[in-house]
Amino acid sequence: MEIKYIGILKGIDLSERRLPILIERAKEPGPTIWLCGATHGNEVTGIRVIQRIFNFLKRNPLKIGAVYAAPVINPLGFEMVKRENPYDGEDINRNFPGDDTGNTTERLGRTIFNSIVETKPDLVIDLHSDTLNSIPYIIVDRPIGTKSGIVETLEKSWALAEKFGVTVTHDIEIEGYKKYNLDKSLTAALTNRAQIPAFLTELGGPNVIYESFVRIGVRGIKNILAHFNMISLEEAPWISETKIKTECRLEITEDIVCNEAGIIEYFVKPGQFVKTGQPLAQVNNILGKNEETIFAKRDCYVISLIDQSVSFPGLNIVNAAVVQNPPGEEIKKEEKTENPKI
Ligand SMILES: [Zn+2]
Repeated sequence: MEIKYIGILKGIDLSERRLPILIERAKEPGPTIWLCGATHGNEVTGIRVIQRIFNFLKRNPLKIGAVYAAPVINPLGFEMVKRENPYDGEDINRNFPGDDTGNTTERLGRTIFNSIVETKPDLVIDLHSDTLNSIPYIIVDRPIGTKSGIVETLEKSWALAEKFGVTVTHDIEIEGYKKYNLDKSLTAALTNRAQIPAFLTELGGPNVIYESFVRIGVRGIKNILAHFNMISLEEAPWISETKIKTECRLEITEDIVCNEAGIIEYFVKPGQFVKTGQPLAQVNNILGKNEETIFAKRDCYVISLIDQSVSFPGLNIVNAAVVQNPPGEEIKKEEKTENPKI
């Protein structure tokens, strides 16, 4: 294994801060795959997934190509066990592709983005964590603008994401996607600006590494490496038992929030399908009186529940995915509402 260091900044104590990059190369040329961890500094599961993959590659050398890994994309946040960069409070995953002359996070983002892009990868996997109470899943980005190649890159990203073996979803609809700067995530910048296939995995929750989620990450990445013929797998590609299978694609919905303060009691589990109007959770006040029941506004699959039982108004308590309309469905609906009395 080769280790390369990327200089990121000089600290106040004059120390040179560097980002280690692990590289495993085969003698034969072939695809280049990147793995990124701790882009959100407290989402640490990906670090161990990367370590396991590199240990595996030590025993089972790559047949072709190269695997690059940045175990910690956000070292300053990682040191403080914080999602953001503590220097300026910015979320690096809302600041890509970065800016050489911007704030600290934008400069760091630019350095990382350039380091990845210059290797011309065939796929970049950014390893994140949602909540402990979640199914493992993948988010594929949305197209921004009409630059040629974007839709093809996202289609390629989706097809590769399906090889990983867990539930695959598109990110939230385009308005929310832009409003929350999700169009400036690492994977959004790679797919939309550099036409490099990429997707983001959500494995478990922040702060704590659970072995079950590490194994899922390792198996998914092995599936991908086998798909590119970079390794041989003795067994058939692994598929998670929690993988949601639908005819049409899934997309993440806007947040399901509560409006009252109290204690949350859930009626649903991650991975479960719920019908419109079905109760998802209730909020009781500290005396046990029901203050609010939260119902599903649409048929959806529960993806994750937050790792906290205390609620306050506006708290996002459930992350869910809905089935996208099949092509042509929207038009049919409009036709119906235009002629309601006929
Ligand atoms: Zn994250």
